[in-house]
Amino acid sequence: MTDTTNNIIKQRKRILSPSLSLSYDEPLHIIKGRGQYLYDVEGNEFLDATNNIQHVGHCHPKVIEATLKQLKKLNTNTRYLDETILDYASLLIKKMPNKLNKVFFTNSGSESNDLALRLARNYLQNNETIVLDGAYHGHLISLIEVSPYKYNGPGGIRPPQNVHALPIPDPFRGKYCGEDSGEKYAEEMKVILKKIKKPPAFISESIMGCGGQLIPPEGFIKRAYDLVKANDGLCIADEVQIGFGRIGDVFWGFECQNVVPDIVSLGKSIGNGHPLSVVVTTEEIADRFNNGMEYFNSYGGNPVSCAIGKAVLEIIEEEELQKNAREVGIKLFKMLQDLEGKHEQIGDVRGKGLFLGVEIMEGSDHSKPSKEIADIIVNRMKEFGVLVSADGPDHNVIKIKPPMIFNFQNACQLVETLDRVLLKI
Ligand code: PMP
Repeated sequence: MTDTTNNIIKQRKRILSPSLSLSYDEPLHIIKGRGQYLYDVEGNEFLDATNNIQHVGHCHPKVIEATLKQLKKLNTNTRYLDETILDYASLLIKKMPNKLNKVFFTNSGSESNDLALRLARNYLQNNETIVLDGAYHGHLISLIEVSPYKYNGPGGIRPPQNVHALPIPDPFRGKYCGEDSGEKYAEEMKVILKKIKKPPAFISESIMGCGGQLIPPEGFIKRAYDLVKANDGLCIADEVQIGFGRIGDVFWGFECQNVVPDIVSLGKSIGNGHPLSVVVTTEEIADRFNNGMEYFNSYGGNPVSCAIGKAVLEIIEEEELQKNAREVGIKLFKMLQDLEGKHEQIGDVRGKGLFLGVEIMEGSDHSKPSKEIADIIVNRMKEFGVLVSADGPDHNVIKIKPPMIFNFQNACQLVETLDRVLLKI
């Protein structure tokens, strides 16, 4: 480590909040990003297989150009007439099912989910909320309360009585496994619905991120949506991690579950690292929210953010990044499955497109999740120039969610590095 790096660590400790964490045992001092690569202060190159926020690649020239062009012209707020917000919102809703046609602008995934809950609770006139165990929806008080990943973790406290968690729908290690597990989870949903008696809001991801890159059992999300709708509730799709073509086959995560939500939260990738986020909902829900209280957001929907969002959408189209996620994702998945046959530490390989997870377990019988081995993998892979991270309720799932320009050679490099690391464990 250089003196500057050591000094930064010391300064962070002195000045910044101690609850911020750093990745890797020996933290990285990154000073440059290009495409799917990051460079540290000593000039070392790292293949970035974990930053899903920089969706179209680090420092994409078109994003930089769009930002600078709009910054030089004007940056204000939604109280003035401006075409930028309309250009962008129109492009965005073209990507959505027809009924989702009203757009709200926010500045983070958390803010979007908070507004999504507010819209739902206002519409339903109650605050009963159903969540999936293991889920994370954001860092605001309202969201820690609906994020079992946080409230069941260190420092967490019991959620309020209006929050009801279904068991994590994990086909590998969940409460129910096998063909009819989707139906069994749905039965648990019925019990909750019976207990709460009021129309609830159901917030979920269609593929769980912090939950460990989990694809819920076939048909479960659809059954859950049908049950919520039959009880006059509303479904919120948290697309903060999986939206914008990341899962390859479809543009939005909820599409892979054949459902149409009532409210959709977007974040992270939407602005390629710029603090832009959005909630899209139906006219009816937006109209009921318009009860006389103004919705004003100082930064949400500002022209610079909208210019950036538009550039990101255009790049996804022009560079065919959804197709790339599908094609590279299929090959990468297959290569990871081959590794699963070779290394007993791999318990499961899952995910879709460029949103994949490798679950690390102890022993040949895969009896226990292994955070320790996952940590070793993450740190050693970094030493060999490949950046991944570990997450999931037991922090034992290696998460692969690179910028969407990740190519086949990158996939091979990742798999070879993982193989090399696992051989030495
Ligand atoms: N929803 C999901 C599914 C997330 O993964 C996250 C962040 N990891 C959030 C919401 C919160 O987003 P932000 O950090 O932008 O507030």
